[in-house]
Amino acid sequence: MSAHPPTVITGIGVSPGRVAAPAVRMPDPITEPPAGRRLPPGADHEAAAQRIAAASEHVRADLDAAAERAQGDAADLLHTTAAIAADPTLVADAVERVMTDHLVPERAVWEAADAVAEQFLAIGGLFAERIRDIADVRDRLVAVLTDRPAPGVPEGDEPFVLVALDLAPALVATLDPERVLAIVTAAGGPTAHTAILARARGIPGVVAARGILEALDDDALVLVDGAAGTVTVGPDPEQVAAARALAAQVRTFSGPGQTADGRRVELLANVGDPGAAQAAADAGAEGVGLFRTEFAFLDREEAPTIEEQVRAYRQVFSAFAGRKVVIRTLDAGADKPMPFLSGDDEVNPALGVRGLRTVVGHPDILEDQLTAISTAAAVEQAEVWVMAPMVSTVDEAADFVAACARHRLTTAGVMIEVPSAALMSGPILAHAAFASIGTNDLVQYTMAADRLLGAVAHLSVAWQPAVLQLVAATCAGAAAQGRPVGVCGEAAASPAMAAVLVGLGVTSLSMTPRALADVAAVLGATTYDECRRLAGLALAAPSAEDARATVRAALPVLEELGL
Ligand code: PEP
Ligand code: MG
Repeated sequence: MSAHPPTVITGIGVSPGRVAAPAVRMPDPITEPPAGRRLPPGADHEAAAQRIAAASEHVRADLDAAAERAQGDAADLLHTTAAIAADPTLVADAVERVMTDHLVPERAVWEAADAVAEQFLAIGGLFAERIRDIADVRDRLVAVLTDRPAPGVPEGDEPFVLVALDLAPALVATLDPERVLAIVTAAGGPTAHTAILARARGIPGVVAARGILEALDDDALVLVDGAAGTVTVGPDPEQVAAARALAAQVRTFSGPGQTADGRRVELLANVGDPGAAQAAADAGAEGVGLFRTEFAFLDREEAPTIEEQVRAYRQVFSAFAGRKVVIRTLDAGADKPMPFLSGDDEVNPALGVRGLRTVVGHPDILEDQLTAISTAAAVEQAEVWVMAPMVSTVDEAADFVAACARHRLTTAGVMIEVPSAALMSGPILAHAAFASIGTNDLVQYTMAADRLLGAVAHLSVAWQPAVLQLVAATCAGAAAQGRPVGVCGEAAASPAMAAVLVGLGVTSLSMTPRALADVAAVLGATTYDECRRLAGLALAAPSAEDARATVRAALPVLEELGL
C-alpha cells in the first residue's frame, strides 16, 4: 500500500461504476525509426541480424500464447498474425537490409514490413485486408528490438484499470471487461465515441483526467469513480472495501419507468448495431428511442441496397414487436464521413453538409431509406416512428414530414441538436409529431466546442445551464403543440441528469441499455415535484460544475446507490 495520502484527480465521468484495481498504462504507440539509421562502423552485423530472427520468434511465441488464451475468431486471428511474425520472407528481407545496407535492425524490419505490405496491397483481395496485421507485427518487432513494451492493451495476470493519454473507439469496442475493469484517459471528451462505447459496454470510465499520467507509479492502486469523474491514486483500504461492496450489487430493470409518485417516463434503448437489439429488449427497454442507422452505411463505397436495409431494420423491429422503435434516418458527414455522400472538401465539416442536409444533394438516399423503413415496418409488429438528424429550420422539418407521409410513415419527428431548432421547437412541432433532443450535438453547437476534442471537454457537458435552457425551450415549444419530447443523447444515461430532464418536461429517455436500471432506480426514488425543483436549481446555476454539484447534493439517493 502507498505511504502517501491518496491523491484525487478530477476528470469527467463518462461511464458510471466504482472500481479499485491496479493501474496499467497503455504503452506509447511505436513510431517509425528514423530513415537511414545505420549500425556504427565496426558493429557486428551478424549479431544484429540474429536479433531479428530472435525477435521474430519472440513475437510469434507471444501471439500464439495470446491465441491460446483467446477463443473463436479472436484466436484464429492471433494465430494468423503469429504466422506473419514468423514469415521467413519478412525476416530474410530485414536481415538482408542489415547485412547489405547496414541498417539498424528496427529500421530494417520497418522497411521490410513496408515492402511486404506493398506486395499484399498489389495482390488485393484478402491479402490487402492483412495490411493492418503486418503493421501490428512490425510494431511488435520494433518494440522487442528497442526494448519497449509491446503495443496494444497490456497482458496482465490480474484485472486492471487501463490508463492512457487517449484510446481509440475501435480499441474500446474490443476490450475485455473481465480484464479491463475501468478506463481512464488524460485527454478525450465526454461525448466522443470512445466514451459512448465505454458506457455501452458497461466499462466505468473517466476522461479528461489531466495529470493522471504523471500521478501514477507502476502498478499503483487506483479507485475510479465513473459517476463522480474522479480517480483516487493510493486510496484508503476503507474506500477500496466500500467500492468493492458496491460493485457486488447488481440492479436490473423490468419497467415501466416512472417517478416515485407514478408519473410515467418511458425508458428506451439506443441501438446502433441491429445485432444488439435483442439484448436491449432483454435488458428491459420499453422500446428503442434512437436506432442509429449509420452502421449499415459506414465503411462502404456505395449505399446499401433497399433489400439490405429492410433486413437490418426488420431485425430491430422484430426484437421490439408491439413496442415503439424510433428509427433515425442517415446521419452522415462530419465525424461520420461516407464516400458516396462526401461533397467538396469542407473547412468545418461539423458546420457543413451533414445529417438531414445531405438530402439536398442526394435525395435518392433518403427516398430509398424511407422505402426500406416502410417496407420493414409493414411486415413487422413494432410501432415505427421515424426522425431526421440535425434539423435546423421549420422548412426542413416540414419537408421531412412530407417525405415520410409519402411513404405512409405517419409518425415523423425531428432531432433537436442545433440551438436554432431548440428555439423554434414550437413552429417545428406544428409539423413534426415529436422531438428527440440529441444532447451530444446540442452541447457541441451551443458551447461551440468540438465533441471529440479533449482540450474543450470541460465545456462539452450537458450540465451547462445554457444547454439546459435550450432543453427547457424545446419542452415549452412542444407543450404548446401538445407534442412529446424525448432525450436520446448521452445525458439521458446519467441518473442525476435524467431527473433534471424529467423536471424540464422531457417525457422519455433513451440510453445505452446498461444505464436503464440506474436511471430507473433514481427516478423511482424521486417525485415529479422534486424533479422540477432540481431542474430549477440546475437552470439557476452559474456554471456546469455548480449545476451538477447542486443537483447531486440535493439527491442523496445517488450516494446511497453508489451512482
Ligand atoms: C446526439 O447528438 O446527441 C445524438 C444522439 O446523435 P449522435 O450522437 O449520433 O450524433
Ligand atoms: Mg447527433
